[in-house]
Amino acid sequence: MLITFTLFSQQSLPVLNELDEKEHYYGSLALKIWDWAELGYLEFQSSALLQETLKKEGFSINSGVAEIPTAFIASYGSGKPIIAILGEYDALPGLSQDSLPLKKTLGKAAGHACGHHLFGVGSAAATIAVKNWMQNSGQTGTIRYYGCPAEEGGSGKVYMARAGLLDDVDIVIHWHPGSSNSANASSSLANISAKFRFKGISAHAAGAPDKGRSALDGVEAMNHMVNMMREHVPDDTRIHYVITDGGKAPNVVPDFAEVYYYARSPRRADLVNIWEWIVKASEGAAMGTGTRVEHEIIGGVYEILPIESLARIAHKHLAHVGGVQYDEHEKSFARQISESLTGSPEFSSFSHANVEPFEIKMRKGGGSTDVGDISWVVPTVGLRTATWVPNTPAHSWQAVAAGGMSIGRKGMMVAAKTMALTAMDLFLNPDHIKEAWEEFESKRGKSFQYKALIGDRPPALDYRK
Ligand SMILES: [Zn+2]
Repeated sequence: MLITFTLFSQQSLPVLNELDEKEHYYGSLALKIWDWAELGYLEFQSSALLQETLKKEGFSINSGVAEIPTAFIASYGSGKPIIAILGEYDALPGLSQDSLPLKKTLGKAAGHACGHHLFGVGSAAATIAVKNWMQNSGQTGTIRYYGCPAEEGGSGKVYMARAGLLDDVDIVIHWHPGSSNSANASSSLANISAKFRFKGISAHAAGAPDKGRSALDGVEAMNHMVNMMREHVPDDTRIHYVITDGGKAPNVVPDFAEVYYYARSPRRADLVNIWEWIVKASEGAAMGTGTRVEHEIIGGVYEILPIESLARIAHKHLAHVGGVQYDEHEKSFARQISESLTGSPEFSSFSHANVEPFEIKMRKGGGSTDVGDISWVVPTVGLRTATWVPNTPAHSWQAVAAGGMSIGRKGMMVAAKTMALTAMDLFLNPDHIKEAWEEFESKRGKSFQYKALIGDRPPALDYRK
């Protein structure tokens, strides 16, 4: 054991040194993507930059995969095992913010409030470091980077999984920016989203209301029914909606109205039942208001299937790499961000500097991710690192701010190092891969067949337009 570990340290040292040396280079790439802040399926510059970066390093590039112009796969080496690292690069609408510890917009349409600029570049850094190690050591196999667009509501990876692009992959590694460092075996929420479009008959709202049928009534009746449903679904269900079109003027009976729904559950089977009920509510609402309704599924993702054996490996390497250390400037930045979040400049949790103890969290609330679908196709392992000041929630201006300065860059490099070491460990120990597949198949069930929740719809390339 000791001998193996020493050998591993000998091999990993140059990899860690390379990543240290290139920290500012990768930081500058991430800042470009942060600055462009391109929305889902519109990440043309961000995707091109990542492709160029990997191409220059000798990767072969397959771009526009799964009928998505900004999706790509970069590959190096040949044969088995095939280890894949995922990258994301889409921004969020609104949430434009300068890299300052006070709320100040840059006046742009979008911002990187989920840190996907770091996600994309950190994963590329890890992939390139593994490639260089393979080149230098003569390690056989294939290392790939999956350029995955439109994570935020676009379900980009679902189309990639549905197209079979991961079918030959042995293990998938991913990470996500956060405000602490952890590599737990944790799950996420399955999610289905759709736009319900009601059609009625317009008429003068005062002069001839009896001639009209209000599409907005349809939306309101549906929302009312769904809000009553909440009492009768499992406690951990999440349902949210926004009315994206409610008519144009009060004196015109609206002939069109649209409501955009998300429903989530930690269990896909429950979600499917809840979703059928929501669809029935839309039909009932249309019937009762004399309108018609159709819905378009926009996104749908599985809950993450955590693989404990892989998570323990990633945790070991994350603990070895360690958390993020702040210099004086970063401490003062963090104090101001903390003040804006909690009213106190203390950020004494030290969650940026420490690595959380290993934990198995099957029913973590919070968000959904399209990594979920991939995790049911290939054994998948993920981690989070502190790219944001402790206690910062995702999708906040504070996340955009820290992601645009050195704290974001440092957190990104912790992730890059951990993923590179994890990938190397898997290449060097085929037993780890075998064990992961055994756990994966027993958890997934032998008869499991992947079927995307989005059905056969083509990628919703215009969902942000
Ligand atoms: Zn995200």
